[in-house]
Amino acid sequence: MRHIPPRPSPGGGRMTTDFYHLLLSDCVLALILLGLFAYVARVARGVHGIASWGVGHYLFSLGAAMLDGSAQALDRQAAGDFSAAIAAAGSAMACAGLAVMAGAVIKFAGRRSLHAHERALLALLLLLPLAAWLHGDPLRSQGAAMSAVELVLLGVMLFQLRRLDTPPARLPARLMLAGSLVLGALYGRDLVHALGGHYGANEAWVNIDLSMWFLFNFCMLMLASFRAAEALQASAMEDPLTGTLNRRGLYARLEPQLQQLDRGASMAVIALDVDHFKRINDGHGHDIGDLVLQRLSEAVRACIRETDLFARMGGEEFLVVLTGPESCGAAQLAERIRGAVEDMRMAAPAPDGLLVTASFGVCLDTAAADLAELQRRADEALYAAKRGGRNRVVLHAGEQPAMA
Ligand code: GH3
Ligand code: MG
Ligand code: MG
Repeated sequence: MRHIPPRPSPGGGRMTTDFYHLLLSDCVLALILLGLFAYVARVARGVHGIASWGVGHYLFSLGAAMLDGSAQALDRQAAGDFSAAIAAAGSAMACAGLAVMAGAVIKFAGRRSLHAHERALLALLLLLPLAAWLHGDPLRSQGAAMSAVELVLLGVMLFQLRRLDTPPARLPARLMLAGSLVLGALYGRDLVHALGGHYGANEAWVNIDLSMWFLFNFCMLMLASFRAAEALQASAMEDPLTGTLNRRGLYARLEPQLQQLDRGASMAVIALDVDHFKRINDGHGHDIGDLVLQRLSEAVRACIRETDLFARMGGEEFLVVLTGPESCGAAQLAERIRGAVEDMRMAAPAPDGLLVTASFGVCLDTAAADLAELQRRADEALYAAKRGGRNRVVLHAGEQPAMA
Protein backbone atom coordinates (compact mmCIF):
# COMPACT_ATOMS: atom_id res chain seq x y z
CA MET A 1 0.00 0.00 0.00
CA ARG A 2 2.69 2.48 0.93
CA HIS A 3 6.34 2.58 1.82
CA ILE A 4 6.81 -0.53 -0.19
CA PRO A 5 10.56 -1.02 -0.22
CA PRO A 6 12.01 -1.33 -3.69
CA ARG A 7 13.93 -4.54 -4.07
CA PRO A 8 17.34 -3.78 -5.51
CA SER A 9 18.24 -5.91 -8.49
CA PRO A 10 21.45 -7.94 -8.23
CA GLY A 11 23.09 -5.69 -10.80
CA GLY A 12 22.72 -2.46 -8.90
CA GLY A 13 20.28 -0.06 -7.37
CA ARG A 14 17.59 -0.07 -10.07
CA MET A 15 14.04 -0.93 -9.19
CA THR A 16 12.91 -4.32 -10.36
CA THR A 17 9.82 -4.85 -12.46
CA ASP A 18 8.44 -6.82 -9.48
CA PHE A 19 8.34 -3.65 -7.49
CA TYR A 20 6.44 -1.80 -10.21
CA HIS A 21 4.07 -4.75 -10.54
CA LEU A 22 3.39 -4.54 -6.83
CA LEU A 23 2.54 -0.84 -7.07
CA LEU A 24 0.43 -1.46 -10.17
CA SER A 25 -1.54 -4.31 -8.63
CA ASP A 26 -2.10 -2.15 -5.57
CA CYS A 27 -3.61 0.60 -7.75
CA VAL A 28 -5.72 -1.89 -9.72
CA LEU A 29 -7.05 -3.36 -6.48
CA ALA A 30 -7.88 0.14 -5.24
CA LEU A 31 -9.72 0.80 -8.52
CA ILE A 32 -11.77 -2.38 -8.10
CA LEU A 33 -12.53 -1.38 -4.51
CA LEU A 34 -13.57 2.09 -5.75
CA GLY A 35 -16.11 0.43 -8.05
CA LEU A 36 -17.27 -1.87 -5.26
CA PHE A 37 -17.78 1.00 -2.79
CA ALA A 38 -19.61 3.03 -5.46
CA TYR A 39 -21.88 0.04 -6.09
CA VAL A 40 -22.59 -0.43 -2.37
CA ALA A 41 -23.32 3.30 -2.02
CA ARG A 42 -25.79 3.06 -4.90
CA VAL A 43 -27.70 0.04 -3.61
CA ALA A 44 -27.52 1.20 0.01
CA ARG A 45 -28.89 4.69 -0.55
CA GLY A 46 -28.67 6.91 2.49
CA VAL A 47 -25.63 5.15 4.00
CA HIS A 48 -23.28 8.05 4.62
CA GLY A 49 -19.57 7.95 3.85
CA ILE A 50 -19.29 4.75 1.82
CA ALA A 51 -18.70 6.32 -1.61
CA SER A 52 -16.21 8.81 -0.14
CA TRP A 53 -14.29 6.02 1.58
CA GLY A 54 -13.83 4.35 -1.84
CA VAL A 55 -12.73 7.62 -3.47
CA GLY A 56 -10.40 8.49 -0.58
CA HIS A 57 -8.83 5.05 -0.56
CA TYR A 58 -8.26 5.17 -4.32
CA LEU A 59 -6.58 8.60 -4.16
CA PHE A 60 -4.45 7.42 -1.26
CA SER A 61 -3.34 4.26 -3.05
CA LEU A 62 -2.54 6.08 -6.28
CA GLY A 63 -0.71 8.90 -4.50
CA ALA A 64 1.27 6.56 -2.26
CA ALA A 65 2.27 4.50 -5.31
CA MET A 66 3.53 7.68 -7.03
CA LEU A 67 5.54 8.61 -3.95
CA ASP A 68 6.91 5.10 -3.46
CA GLY A 69 7.59 4.77 -7.19
CA SER A 70 9.74 7.89 -7.26
CA ALA A 71 11.40 7.06 -3.95
CA GLN A 72 14.37 5.15 -5.18
CA ALA A 73 15.26 7.58 -7.92
CA LEU A 74 15.17 10.38 -5.37
CA ASP A 75 17.11 8.30 -2.87
CA ARG A 76 19.92 7.72 -5.33
CA GLN A 77 20.17 11.49 -5.83
CA ALA A 78 19.64 10.69 -9.47
CA ALA A 79 16.37 12.44 -9.56
CA GLY A 80 15.54 15.30 -11.77
CA ASP A 81 12.75 17.75 -11.19
CA PHE A 82 10.39 15.26 -12.75
CA SER A 83 10.77 12.67 -9.96
CA ALA A 84 10.47 15.39 -7.34
CA ALA A 85 7.27 16.63 -8.98
CA ILE A 86 5.85 13.08 -9.10
CA ALA A 87 6.70 12.61 -5.40
CA ALA A 88 5.06 15.93 -4.47
CA ALA A 89 1.93 15.26 -6.55
CA GLY A 90 1.72 11.73 -5.16
CA SER A 91 2.04 12.92 -1.58
CA ALA A 92 -0.62 15.62 -2.11
CA MET A 93 -2.96 13.08 -3.67
CA ALA A 94 -2.37 10.54 -0.90
CA CYS A 95 -2.95 13.18 1.81
CA ALA A 96 -6.15 14.32 0.06
CA GLY A 97 -7.28 10.69 -0.02
CA LEU A 98 -6.53 10.24 3.68
CA ALA A 99 -8.49 13.42 4.50
CA VAL A 100 -11.43 12.19 2.41
CA MET A 101 -11.33 8.85 4.28
CA ALA A 102 -11.27 10.66 7.63
CA GLY A 103 -14.38 12.59 6.51
CA ALA A 104 -15.97 9.32 5.37
CA VAL A 105 -15.46 7.74 8.80
CA ILE A 106 -17.00 10.79 10.54
CA LYS A 107 -19.97 10.68 8.14
CA PHE A 108 -20.46 6.95 8.55
CA ALA A 109 -20.19 6.85 12.36
CA GLY A 110 -22.33 9.98 12.81
CA ARG A 111 -24.84 9.03 10.07
CA ARG A 112 -24.66 12.58 8.70
CA SER A 113 -22.95 14.93 6.29
CA LEU A 114 -19.81 16.80 7.34
CA HIS A 115 -20.14 20.16 9.07
CA ALA A 116 -18.45 23.12 7.35
CA HIS A 117 -15.78 23.38 10.09
CA GLU A 118 -14.93 19.67 9.75
CA ARG A 119 -14.52 20.07 6.00
CA ALA A 120 -12.28 23.09 6.57
CA LEU A 121 -10.13 21.26 9.17
CA LEU A 122 -9.67 18.26 6.89
CA ALA A 123 -8.76 20.55 3.97
CA LEU A 124 -6.06 22.08 6.21
CA LEU A 125 -4.29 18.71 6.16
CA LEU A 126 -3.30 19.49 2.56
CA LEU A 127 -1.03 22.21 3.92
CA LEU A 128 1.35 19.47 5.11
CA PRO A 129 2.35 18.17 1.65
CA LEU A 130 2.51 21.79 0.50
CA ALA A 131 4.88 22.67 3.36
CA ALA A 132 6.91 19.55 2.55
CA TRP A 133 7.17 20.64 -1.09
CA LEU A 134 8.44 24.07 -0.02
CA HIS A 135 10.90 22.44 2.34
CA GLY A 136 12.97 21.24 -0.56
CA ASP A 137 13.92 17.68 0.40
CA PRO A 138 11.08 16.02 -1.48
CA LEU A 139 11.34 12.45 -0.31
CA ARG A 140 11.88 12.76 3.45
CA SER A 141 9.59 15.74 3.93
CA GLN A 142 6.82 14.26 1.77
CA GLY A 143 7.21 10.96 3.62
CA ALA A 144 6.88 12.81 6.92
CA ALA A 145 3.83 14.75 5.68
CA MET A 146 2.08 11.59 4.55
CA SER A 147 2.84 9.71 7.77
CA ALA A 148 1.49 12.65 9.80
CA VAL A 149 -1.78 12.72 7.82
CA GLU A 150 -2.03 8.92 8.09
CA LEU A 151 -1.79 9.29 11.87
CA VAL A 152 -4.59 11.89 11.77
CA LEU A 153 -6.81 9.43 9.88
CA LEU A 154 -6.05 6.67 12.38
CA GLY A 155 -6.83 9.07 15.25
CA VAL A 156 -10.17 9.95 13.65
CA MET A 157 -10.91 6.24 13.19
CA LEU A 158 -10.03 5.44 16.80
CA PHE A 159 -12.27 8.24 18.02
CA GLN A 160 -15.24 7.67 15.68
CA LEU A 161 -15.41 3.88 15.47
CA ARG A 162 -15.64 3.54 19.25
CA ARG A 163 -19.19 4.80 18.83
CA LEU A 164 -20.26 1.73 16.83
CA ASP A 165 -20.67 -0.39 19.93
CA THR A 166 -23.84 -2.36 19.26
CA PRO A 167 -24.04 -5.58 17.27
CA PRO A 168 -23.66 -6.35 14.44
CA ALA A 169 -21.45 -3.29 13.70
CA ARG A 170 -19.42 -3.77 16.88
CA LEU A 171 -17.23 -6.62 15.63
CA PRO A 172 -15.96 -5.02 12.37
CA ALA A 173 -15.62 -1.67 14.19
CA ARG A 174 -13.48 -3.32 16.91
CA LEU A 175 -11.34 -5.05 14.28
CA MET A 176 -10.77 -1.69 12.62
CA LEU A 177 -9.85 -0.16 15.99
CA ALA A 178 -7.28 -2.90 16.56
CA GLY A 179 -5.95 -2.40 13.01
CA SER A 180 -5.69 1.36 13.62
CA LEU A 181 -3.55 0.77 16.71
CA VAL A 182 -1.21 -1.53 14.77
CA LEU A 183 -0.92 0.89 11.85
CA GLY A 184 -0.54 3.78 14.31
CA ALA A 185 2.62 2.12 15.63
CA LEU A 186 3.83 1.48 12.07
CA TYR A 187 3.22 5.01 10.79
CA GLY A 188 4.46 6.60 14.02
CA ARG A 189 7.74 4.83 13.43
CA ASP A 190 7.73 5.95 9.78
CA LEU A 191 7.18 9.54 10.87
CA VAL A 192 10.09 9.44 13.31
CA HIS A 193 12.29 7.89 10.62
CA ALA A 194 11.24 10.43 7.99
CA LEU A 195 11.91 13.32 10.38
CA GLY A 196 15.28 11.75 11.09
CA GLY A 197 16.11 11.78 7.39
CA HIS A 198 15.20 8.24 6.32
CA TYR A 199 12.57 7.05 3.95
CA GLY A 200 11.53 3.57 3.07
CA ALA A 201 10.07 0.76 4.99
CA ASN A 202 11.29 -2.03 7.06
CA GLU A 203 10.25 -4.88 4.78
CA ALA A 204 8.89 -6.82 7.74
CA TRP A 205 6.20 -4.16 8.18
CA VAL A 206 5.01 -4.15 4.60
CA ASN A 207 2.86 -7.24 4.86
CA ILE A 208 1.27 -5.94 8.04
CA ASP A 209 0.54 -2.63 6.30
CA LEU A 210 -1.11 -4.36 3.34
CA SER A 211 -3.06 -6.71 5.61
CA MET A 212 -4.38 -3.88 7.77
CA TRP A 213 -5.64 -1.98 4.72
CA PHE A 214 -7.24 -5.16 3.43
CA LEU A 215 -8.91 -5.51 6.85
CA PHE A 216 -10.12 -1.89 6.82
CA ASN A 217 -11.70 -2.22 3.39
CA PHE A 218 -13.25 -5.56 4.21
CA CYS A 219 -14.72 -4.20 7.46
CA MET A 220 -16.01 -1.03 5.78
CA LEU A 221 -17.88 -3.15 3.24
CA MET A 222 -19.28 -5.25 6.09
CA LEU A 223 -20.35 -2.16 8.04
CA ALA A 224 -21.99 -0.70 4.91
CA SER A 225 -23.99 -3.86 4.27
CA PHE A 226 -25.12 -3.98 7.91
CA ARG A 227 -26.26 -0.35 7.60
CA ALA A 228 -28.07 -1.10 4.36
CA ALA A 229 -29.88 -4.04 5.95
CA GLU A 230 -30.81 -1.85 8.90
CA ALA A 231 -32.22 0.84 6.58
CA LEU A 232 -34.24 -1.79 4.70
CA GLN A 233 -35.61 -3.14 7.96
CA ALA A 234 -36.55 0.37 9.11
CA SER A 235 -38.31 1.11 5.81
CA ALA A 236 -40.30 -2.12 6.16
CA MET A 237 -41.62 -0.75 9.45
CA GLU A 238 -42.54 2.66 8.13
CA ASP A 239 -45.56 3.90 6.21
CA PRO A 240 -44.14 5.48 3.05
CA LEU A 241 -46.89 8.10 2.68
CA THR A 242 -46.84 9.63 6.15
CA GLY A 243 -43.48 8.49 7.54
CA THR A 244 -45.21 7.11 10.64
CA LEU A 245 -44.73 3.57 11.85
CA ASN A 246 -46.87 0.93 10.20
CA ARG A 247 -48.57 -1.88 12.11
CA ARG A 248 -45.46 -4.08 12.07
CA GLY A 249 -43.28 -1.15 13.18
CA LEU A 250 -45.62 -0.35 16.05
CA TYR A 251 -45.42 -3.86 17.46
CA ALA A 252 -41.65 -4.02 16.97
CA ARG A 253 -41.12 -0.71 18.80
CA LEU A 254 -43.65 -1.45 21.52
CA GLU A 255 -42.10 -4.76 22.53
CA PRO A 256 -38.93 -3.32 24.16
CA GLN A 257 -40.96 -0.53 25.79
CA LEU A 258 -43.29 -3.07 27.39
CA GLN A 259 -40.33 -5.05 28.70
CA GLN A 260 -38.91 -1.94 30.35
CA LEU A 261 -42.19 -1.03 32.02
CA ASP A 262 -42.54 -1.70 35.72
CA ARG A 263 -45.26 -4.00 36.83
CA GLY A 264 -48.39 -1.95 37.32
CA ALA A 265 -47.25 0.86 35.02
CA SER A 266 -50.01 2.26 32.89
CA MET A 267 -50.46 2.30 29.16
CA ALA A 268 -52.96 4.08 26.94
CA VAL A 269 -54.12 3.78 23.36
CA ILE A 270 -55.65 6.57 21.29
CA ALA A 271 -57.36 5.39 18.09
CA LEU A 272 -58.14 8.10 15.56
CA ASP A 273 -59.97 8.04 12.27
CA VAL A 274 -60.44 10.91 9.80
CA ASP A 275 -64.09 11.95 9.50
CA HIS A 276 -65.79 11.55 6.13
CA PHE A 277 -62.46 10.97 4.44
CA LYS A 278 -64.19 9.34 1.50
CA ARG A 279 -65.92 12.67 0.80
CA ILE A 280 -62.54 14.46 0.73
CA ASN A 281 -61.25 11.89 -1.76
CA ASP A 282 -64.41 12.03 -3.86
CA GLY A 283 -64.67 15.81 -3.77
CA HIS A 284 -61.02 16.84 -4.23
CA GLY A 285 -59.21 13.80 -5.54
CA HIS A 286 -57.00 11.10 -4.13
CA ASP A 287 -53.87 13.30 -4.15
CA ILE A 288 -55.52 15.84 -1.87
CA GLY A 289 -56.64 12.93 0.31
CA ASP A 290 -52.99 11.82 0.54
CA LEU A 291 -51.92 15.36 1.41
CA VAL A 292 -54.52 15.47 4.19
CA LEU A 293 -53.08 12.26 5.66
CA GLN A 294 -49.55 13.74 5.55
CA ARG A 295 -50.60 17.03 7.15
CA LEU A 296 -52.61 15.21 9.79
CA SER A 297 -49.60 13.04 10.65
CA GLU A 298 -47.45 16.16 11.05
CA ALA A 299 -50.11 17.71 13.31
CA VAL A 300 -50.20 14.59 15.50
CA ARG A 301 -46.39 14.37 15.67
CA ALA A 302 -46.27 17.99 16.84
CA CYS A 303 -48.55 17.10 19.79
CA ILE A 304 -46.84 13.92 21.03
CA ARG A 305 -43.47 13.18 22.65
CA GLU A 306 -40.58 11.41 20.91
CA THR A 307 -41.17 8.36 23.07
CA ASP A 308 -44.88 8.06 22.21
CA LEU A 309 -45.57 5.61 19.41
CA PHE A 310 -47.60 6.81 16.46
CA ALA A 311 -48.64 4.41 13.72
CA ARG A 312 -50.83 4.30 10.64
CA MET A 313 -52.87 1.14 11.02
CA GLY A 314 -54.38 1.33 7.53
CA GLY A 315 -56.36 3.77 5.34
CA GLU A 316 -57.15 6.86 7.43
CA GLU A 317 -56.85 5.15 10.79
CA PHE A 318 -54.01 5.87 13.19
CA LEU A 319 -53.00 4.80 16.67
CA VAL A 320 -51.04 6.62 19.38
CA VAL A 321 -49.67 4.41 22.17
CA LEU A 322 -48.46 5.96 25.41
CA THR A 323 -46.64 4.04 28.10
CA GLY A 324 -45.65 5.02 31.63
CA PRO A 325 -47.05 7.78 33.86
CA GLU A 326 -47.80 10.11 30.92
CA SER A 327 -50.47 7.73 29.69
CA CYS A 328 -52.88 8.97 32.39
CA GLY A 329 -53.23 12.17 30.35
CA ALA A 330 -54.22 10.31 27.17
CA ALA A 331 -57.73 11.80 26.95
CA GLN A 332 -56.35 15.35 27.29
CA LEU A 333 -53.72 14.58 24.67
CA ALA A 334 -56.40 13.22 22.31
CA GLU A 335 -58.37 16.44 22.81
CA ARG A 336 -55.28 18.50 21.98
CA ILE A 337 -54.70 16.46 18.81
CA ARG A 338 -58.38 16.81 17.86
CA GLY A 339 -58.07 20.60 18.17
CA ALA A 340 -54.80 20.63 16.19
CA VAL A 341 -56.38 18.61 13.35
CA GLU A 342 -59.43 20.89 13.27
CA ASP A 343 -57.14 23.95 13.20
CA MET A 344 -55.00 22.61 10.33
CA ARG A 345 -54.75 25.15 7.59
CA MET A 346 -54.53 23.23 4.37
CA ALA A 347 -52.34 25.06 1.86
CA ALA A 348 -52.32 24.79 -1.96
CA PRO A 349 -52.76 22.50 -3.79
CA ALA A 350 -55.49 21.69 -1.23
CA PRO A 351 -58.48 24.00 -1.50
CA ASP A 352 -58.49 26.95 0.92
CA GLY A 353 -60.69 26.41 3.91
CA LEU A 354 -60.88 22.61 3.51
CA LEU A 355 -61.95 21.48 6.94
CA VAL A 356 -60.54 18.21 8.24
CA THR A 357 -61.70 16.64 11.47
CA ALA A 358 -61.10 13.31 13.15
CA SER A 359 -62.78 11.21 15.81
CA PHE A 360 -60.93 9.68 18.73
CA GLY A 361 -61.36 6.68 21.00
CA VAL A 362 -59.17 6.50 24.10
CA CYS A 363 -58.57 3.58 26.40
CA LEU A 364 -56.19 3.58 29.32
CA ASP A 365 -55.38 0.93 31.79
CA THR A 366 -52.94 0.17 34.53
CA ALA A 367 -50.96 -3.04 34.38
CA ALA A 368 -52.26 -3.64 30.88
CA ALA A 369 -49.57 -5.05 28.70
CA ASP A 370 -52.09 -6.39 26.23
CA LEU A 371 -52.12 -4.00 23.31
CA ALA A 372 -54.74 -5.98 21.39
CA GLU A 373 -57.27 -5.64 24.21
CA LEU A 374 -56.59 -1.93 24.68
CA GLN A 375 -56.86 -1.41 20.94
CA ARG A 376 -60.19 -3.22 20.82
CA ARG A 377 -61.59 -1.00 23.55
CA ALA A 378 -60.17 2.17 21.96
CA ASP A 379 -61.88 1.15 18.69
CA GLU A 380 -65.17 0.70 20.56
CA ALA A 381 -64.78 4.22 21.95
CA LEU A 382 -63.93 5.50 18.46
CA TYR A 383 -67.15 4.06 17.01
CA ALA A 384 -69.02 5.72 19.86
CA ALA A 385 -67.36 9.02 18.86
CA LYS A 386 -68.49 8.48 15.25
CA ARG A 387 -72.02 7.67 16.36
CA GLY A 388 -72.01 10.66 18.66
CA GLY A 389 -71.48 13.06 15.73
CA ARG A 390 -67.71 12.83 14.92
CA ASN A 391 -64.93 15.38 15.66
CA ARG A 392 -64.87 14.33 19.31
CA VAL A 393 -62.98 12.25 21.87
CA VAL A 394 -64.60 9.35 23.69
CA LEU A 395 -62.89 7.69 26.62
CA HIS A 396 -63.59 4.03 27.11
CA ALA A 397 -64.57 3.49 30.70
CA GLY A 398 -65.04 -0.09 31.77
CA GLU A 399 -67.26 -2.23 29.59
CA GLN A 400 -69.34 0.59 28.11
CA PRO A 401 -67.76 3.46 26.19
CA ALA A 402 -68.69 6.82 27.71
CA MET A 403 -68.32 10.41 26.52
CA ALA A 404 -65.10 12.15 27.69
P1 GH3 B 1 -66.04 7.98 8.68
O1 GH3 B 1 -66.20 9.38 9.11
O2 GH3 B 1 -67.16 7.12 9.12
O3 GH3 B 1 -64.73 7.43 9.07
O4 GH3 B 1 -66.11 7.98 7.09
P2 GH3 B 1 -64.90 7.82 6.06
O5 GH3 B 1 -65.36 8.31 4.74
O6 GH3 B 1 -63.72 8.48 6.63
O7 GH3 B 1 -64.63 6.28 6.10
P3 GH3 B 1 -64.64 5.19 4.97
O8 GH3 B 1 -64.09 3.97 5.62
O9 GH3 B 1 -65.98 5.10 4.32
O10 GH3 B 1 -63.64 5.72 3.89
C1 GH3 B 1 -62.27 5.66 4.05
C2 GH3 B 1 -61.66 6.05 2.73
O11 GH3 B 1 -60.25 6.20 2.85
C3 GH3 B 1 -61.88 5.04 1.66
C4 GH3 B 1 -60.54 4.87 0.98
O12 GH3 B 1 -60.62 5.04 -0.39
C5 GH3 B 1 -59.74 6.00 1.55
N1 GH3 B 1 -58.32 5.68 1.67
C6 GH3 B 1 -57.74 4.62 2.26
N2 GH3 B 1 -56.40 4.71 2.16
C7 GH3 B 1 -56.13 5.85 1.47
C8 GH3 B 1 -54.92 6.50 1.05
O13 GH3 B 1 -53.79 6.03 1.28
N3 GH3 B 1 -55.03 7.67 0.39
C9 GH3 B 1 -56.25 8.22 0.10
N4 GH3 B 1 -56.28 9.37 -0.55
N5 GH3 B 1 -57.39 7.62 0.47
C10 GH3 B 1 -57.34 6.47 1.14
MG1 MG C 1 -62.88 7.76 8.42
MG1 MG D 1 -61.79 4.32 8.67
